[in-house]
Amino acid sequence: MDIIDERRAVIQPLNKFWYNNKVAALDMLRLDLIHPVVSGNKWFKLRLNVAYAMDHGFKTIVTSGGGYSNHLIATAFTAKKFGIRAVGIVRGKYNVLTPTLEACRAEGMELIFVTKEDYNNKHEPKWIKNIVAHFDEIFMIPEGGANEWGRAGAGLLDRFIKDDYSHIAVAVGSGTTLIGIRNKINDQQQILGFAPMKKGAYLKAYISDHIIPVKNKNWQLFDEWHFGGFGKWNNNLLNFMNDFYREHKIPLDVVYTSKMMYGMSEMLANNSFSSCDRILCIHSGGLQGNVSVKDELCF
Ligand SMILES: *Cc1c(COP(=O)(O)O)cnc(C)c1O
Repeated sequence: MDIIDERRAVIQPLNKFWYNNKVAALDMLRLDLIHPVVSGNKWFKLRLNVAYAMDHGFKTIVTSGGGYSNHLIATAFTAKKFGIRAVGIVRGKYNVLTPTLEACRAEGMELIFVTKEDYNNKHEPKWIKNIVAHFDEIFMIPEGGANEWGRAGAGLLDRFIKDDYSHIAVAVGSGTTLIGIRNKINDQQQILGFAPMKKGAYLKAYISDHIIPVKNKNWQLFDEWHFGGFGKWNNNLLNFMNDFYREHKIPLDVVYTSKMMYGMSEMLANNSFSSCDRILCIHSGGLQGNVSVKDELCF
């Protein structure tokens, strides 16, 4: 299962001037460096899913996502590498494919477009079976890799998280990565989740339901740094990304990690941490999304 070089996932200390020495350490885990297409956390959420599908003789992986989904392209790429067919159920109809969907097709993924209304049935196994009735032996991976193999795979990230970090910051989409990490790392370590959509607090119930009961503590979910909603941004956020890049040579993505680090910067400014805290921010990759703003970015 080695299409990814996990040794590239280095821990980069951020510049002390950037955080005014307000905490003892602020580091970033560079999962964005492990692969250009199969972005950071997506590989971890997929690897046990794909391994299971192959071990059990499934011929086709079916998954779903939006037109800019990092999960779809990561699945398309991974499936091709392992010689298993991939089908993507896409939310919405496109006259012109997005670059992400183009890339999925180039990797051999078959795309099936459904209306946004129909897409709401995505959790119904019957609905899915119907749509992909012309394929046999399908293994279904939910949107965002949000199943037990996805959570267990995300838990493998614990190997990069030393016990001496007091806080781990993670961007949240489905919550799978946060759950996987919470279930594995030391209970005393605080996890700070940053939701990039409006009213992201709705995810708390789902997250809580999937954390092992004895581990269900020391995590928080913030949803105030959404910048207008999922996939939305403003000049303030773009300037922040450019400044962050100039300072650290780390490209953030406009959908997830930029909002997380913006939130972190405000929390640091508000003195939300103590001077002994040691924080690890997870750069979960996803840089594909930046094509939509590439002219505004200096990287
Ligand atoms: C998909 C994605 C996330 C969200 O991960 P979940 O496990 O669904 O919460 C976070 N960051 C990036 C860059 C992503 O592409």
